[in-house]
Amino acid sequence: MKSRELHVAAAVSCCNNCIFCLDRIGGKLCYRGHDTKIVPLTSLAELRRELVASAGKVSEVAFTSGEPTLNKDLPRMIASAKAAGHRRILLITNGWGLADPSFCGKVIANGLSVANVSLHGHTRRLHESHTRRPGSFDRTTRALANLGRLKRTHDFTFNIICVLTKLNLGNLSRMLAFFSRFRPAAIQLNAAIPEGNALERIGEVIPRYRDVARELARCAAQIRAMDGFLYMQHMPECLFAGTAELFDPGKFIRFNENAIVGRSDRVTERPRKVKPASCRTCVHDASCEGVWKAYIDRMGWGEFRPVRAAASTLPAPARNRSGRPSGATRGRPARRGKPRAVPS
Ligand code: SF4
Repeated sequence: MKSRELHVAAAVSCCNNCIFCLDRIGGKLCYRGHDTKIVPLTSLAELRRELVASAGKVSEVAFTSGEPTLNKDLPRMIASAKAAGHRRILLITNGWGLADPSFCGKVIANGLSVANVSLHGHTRRLHESHTRRPGSFDRTTRALANLGRLKRTHDFTFNIICVLTKLNLGNLSRMLAFFSRFRPAAIQLNAAIPEGNALERIGEVIPRYRDVARELARCAAQIRAMDGFLYMQHMPECLFAGTAELFDPGKFIRFNENAIVGRSDRVTERPRKVKPASCRTCVHDASCEGVWKAYIDRMGWGEFRPVRAAASTLPAPARNRSGRPSGATRGRPARRGKPRAVPS
């Protein structure tokens, strides 16, 4: 079964220092300062051998880790993936390097199929209160403008990924309106995860998930009218009991399967999530992955109430043979027109 992903650690550090960053390389947060020397984790020759060996065996090659666009060899890495026969080539980025039109053009022309670009606010102040890097809002929005221009002539998709925190949640409607101007195929919202930097400042960063669900419900009409898809993950269905009918199910999709596949240095999320015994009475128990243990340790279970069959307004998720929602991959929006489940 072609379900494994190949993650290429294309850079060892990041130019941003996001308040919720959970990327770790070698056991350390990837942020090591703005003047860090960028060293590819593998030589191009070694990477080519890996790409050829994995062709036909993985469903996707993802360039990630730190900020991959800091590596000037990224266009050549993408070309190597394409030449090896990989069909879905993903870039997970904060957009820093893509602000340069020439670099962005090479990344796309060399065969990228999907760019997931992180943007956490509709204003410089809001976005940079998350990234803690002056200039990052301009770089990211220029990257999105470059991708929008290239979209007219090249066959690829780009999506906007936004982490919802206590700082930006109250601006959800304004952010959705701003993000839509770039005409991404999808906007993916991730509730901040209590790990890494966010765990250290959990009280300031992590919003209550019930508040996230409420804000989404307030934006339901706006979401229904949006051009592209909206994805949300890490949110148990019980939070949407009684409001799910507000959303267009083809547009507002929740994914509960976040097991990580592929040769990533990350570990599966499931052991870090918990469910109380009362969840056994919930109609979503089988598909629900539970809630981050660190979140429950701090916030408790009060907002998560088992849903009885009659009260449920959510359609049961389609399952594939592995028991996952059909087509689910970890946190990535799929191409427009082919809703496929979407991490981080
Ligand atoms: S199983 Fe538990 S956490 Fe999941 S949706 Fe139901 S009540 Fe919420």
